[in-house]
Amino acid sequence: MTATGDQLGPVAACPLSDRCEVCGSGHEVDVATYDTPVGVFCATVCGSCIDQAKAPPVRGWATAVERVAAHCGHLGIDVDQMAALLHAERDQEVTW
Ligand SMILES: [Zn+2]
Ligand SMILES: [Zn+2]
Repeated sequence: MTATGDQLGPVAACPLSDRCEVCGSGHEVDVATYDTPVGVFCATVCGSCIDQAKAPPVRGWATAVERVAAHCGHLGIDVDQMAALLHAERDQEVTW
């Protein structure tokens, strides 16, 4: 999983928790997004976990799909639209 920062990145509707989902710290928390094979989801993480590219412990496909669906809601798109955007981005990475 890698952090993303473009059109599927964190939006104002993403809920900010008071605790980092990775380490539990309440210091300098922010919303970050993570790319998974099933889509992009958002999570509250602290500055040092972002710096170290630590991803929240989302275990299992069911949880990942749930988190991705929730973030689609924040973005105001559905899962199919997110998939289309992801494919468009990945296509742009192809070098001819
Ligand atoms: Zn943390
Ligand atoms: Zn979100």
